[in-house]
Amino acid sequence: MRPDTLAIRTQAARSAHREHAVPLFLTSSFVFDSAEQARALFAEEEQGPVYSRYSNPNTDEFVEKLRLLEGAEDGIATASGMAAVFTALASLLSAGDHVVAGRALFGSTHQLLTRVFPRWGVTHDYVDGADPDRWRAALRPNTRALFVETPSNPGLELVDLAALGALASERGIPLVVDNCFATPVLQRPIEAGAALVLHSATKFIDGQGRVLGGAIVGDGALVAEARFHARHTGPALAPFNAWVLSKSLETLSLRMERHCANALAIAARLEAEARVEAVRYPHLPSHPQFALAKRQMRWGGGVLTLRLPDYGSATRFLDALRLCSHSPNLGDTRTIVTHPASTTHSRLSEAERAAVGITPGLVRISVGLEDVDDLLDDLTRALREA
Ligand SMILES: *Cc1c(COP(=O)(O)O)cnc(C)c1O
Repeated sequence: MRPDTLAIRTQAARSAHREHAVPLFLTSSFVFDSAEQARALFAEEEQGPVYSRYSNPNTDEFVEKLRLLEGAEDGIATASGMAAVFTALASLLSAGDHVVAGRALFGSTHQLLTRVFPRWGVTHDYVDGADPDRWRAALRPNTRALFVETPSNPGLELVDLAALGALASERGIPLVVDNCFATPVLQRPIEAGAALVLHSATKFIDGQGRVLGGAIVGDGALVAEARFHARHTGPALAPFNAWVLSKSLETLSLRMERHCANALAIAARLEAEARVEAVRYPHLPSHPQFALAKRQMRWGGGVLTLRLPDYGSATRFLDALRLCSHSPNLGDTRTIVTHPASTTHSRLSEAERAAVGITPGLVRISVGLEDVDDLLDDLTRALREA
């Protein structure tokens, strides 16, 4: 079956009540039919729910849909996107290992690699992800993972997944892709050679800014390691959040189509605004990796950035908005505008921000599902007032 059908028709087993929509399993544990079954479940000779830190029908249903959408062998759900990033890396790496990561990363992922893993003897190098030769040059004998976000948050830099997947398989190093911005509707990194794909389900997967969640899907043996790690460290997704996220996957492709159409229209229109120094959007011809974006991504995504002249014009623009929300989230039905330099990426040094294009005047727009003309009215008016 095709992805849109799988996202809608994959469902946890029906109970004796023959319900059509899946019920919510708000239970921390499950009962055993016999002492022998209890033994077999703990020995993992029999599969089935035991305790909701390990699995739950709602979390299983959510991750099964995502597994099918990404074309992965297996998957686990986590309490947030950062729990997915941390669990994936912690289950792959040991003291003495090295990671090569694209330099344009989500702020907390950057903190993990820069501040947390070095305390445990895991080192890293950041590379200009857009240049495939930089990845090859950064590899060391102890490199145990390649980590990439494409498009990146918030700089919208792209990495050629096919080129990186080929390098990863040539060297036998797992490629880990944070696919939060594109979602499987726009690109499927496993087809390009990724071993693990991570998600912050908090963003486009939920799509209405209601719950936190995350997931790791990919190669069976690597997911088994991540599952062991998660089972004993506890970043479990709550059943209620999984129930919300599973329903949300049923409309992901429909929503992404509209997010992307609205974002492309706004990006093209704001390029003509005098106060905007530059607009960045993967499917605009002015994007430095336009050809790659067209080849790799079905549509251009729901996020664009505007470069305004300085910090003052960016903050005046934010304060002049009336319809768009000023909030740190993204991937919502409501359009959200964020100032990365003073919020999500404020922990980076000025030089680190400059390297990934986060200037003091940069604003990120996560385009929602409102009528695009109302959004354009608000954005162009606020730009003129700034
Ligand atoms: C938001 C985000 C995360 C972290 O997800 P949470 O659900 O907030 O923990 C990771 N990667 C990217 C690209 C994100 O945008």
